[in-house]
Amino acid sequence: MMTDDVANVAQPSGPNGGPALLWTEGLERDFGGVKAVGGVSIAMHEGRITGLIGPNGAGKSTTLAMLAGTTPPSAGRIFFDGREVTHLRAFERAQMGLIRTFQLSSEFKQLTVLENLVVAVPGNPGDSLAGALFRRSRFKKFEREALDYAGELLERFRLTQYADTYAGALSGGQRRLVEIMRALMARPRMLLLDEPMAGVHPRLAIEIGEHLLNLKQEGLSIVMVEHELRIVDRFCDPVIVLAEGKVLSQGTMTELRGRQDVVDAYLIG
Ligand code: ADP
Ligand code: MG
Repeated sequence: MMTDDVANVAQPSGPNGGPALLWTEGLERDFGGVKAVGGVSIAMHEGRITGLIGPNGAGKSTTLAMLAGTTPPSAGRIFFDGREVTHLRAFERAQMGLIRTFQLSSEFKQLTVLENLVVAVPGNPGDSLAGALFRRSRFKKFEREALDYAGELLERFRLTQYADTYAGALSGGQRRLVEIMRALMARPRMLLLDEPMAGVHPRLAIEIGEHLLNLKQEGLSIVMVEHELRIVDRFCDPVIVLAEGKVLSQGTMTELRGRQDVVDAYLIG
C-alpha cells in the first residue's frame, strides 16, 4: 500500500481528550468552478457518533465521499488510525476498517437479503472462478463464517424473516437497514453514513438510530451526515456544522443551538 508512515503527524485530540481516529487537514474539492469543500480540517473520534450537518449544498456529502475514498480531494490530507490515507482507494481504506454505505443498486435488489449480506464480505474467495474451483475448502469455511455472521446480523436487526426476500421487495426503511448490515459484514472500525434515515418513516428512523447507538456502545465509531435535527439531537455527539464548504462550528447540539452564527446559517429553532 502506498501509505506514508505518519508517526510524526500531529494527531488531534478528541472532545474527551482521546486521540482522533479519522481526521483531515485543509480538505478541498472543486467541481469545475464550484468549490464544494473549501479547506475543512476536522477530527472524528473512536466510539462516537459524529454528526455532520449543514444547509443543502454545504459540502457534507462531498466531504464524506472524500473520507471514504470515493471522491478524490483537490487538496488537503486525510488520516485514519495514525496513517495518511489521502491517496488510498476506497477498498484499501475499507481493508483498514473505514467503510461507507452505498444505496442498493438495481443489481442488488435482485438478490435476496441474505445473498446481499454474504456477497458484501470483502475478499470473498468465491469472487473468482479460480477461487471457487481451486480453493473449495477455503471457500466453504469463508462462506460458513459469512453465513453465520449474516445470520447474527439478521437477528440483531430483526430481519430474519426476510432472509430469502429479494431486497427489491423491502420497504425503504428495511433497505436502509440492509445497506448498514452490508457495511457491517466487512467488520468496520468506523462507519460512514450519508443520511441513513432520509425518506424513512419516522418510527423506523428512530429504530435505525437505536441500532447505531447499540453499535456505538459496542465500540463502533460512526460519522453520519444528517439533515433532520431531531435525529442529530438524539443520536450525534459531537456535531460538526459545515456551511459553504467550510467548518462553521462544532460542539454538542446544545452548544450549537446557543451560537447565533449557527442558528442563522441553519435556522435552528
Ligand atoms: P450537501 O451534501 O451538503 O448538500 P454536496 O457535497 O452534495 O452538499 O454539494 C456541495 C456543492 O458541490 C453543491 O454546490 C453541489 O452542487 C456541488 N457538487 C456536488 N457534487 C458535484 C458534482 N459531482 N459535480 C458538480 N458539482 C457538484
Ligand atoms: Mg448531501
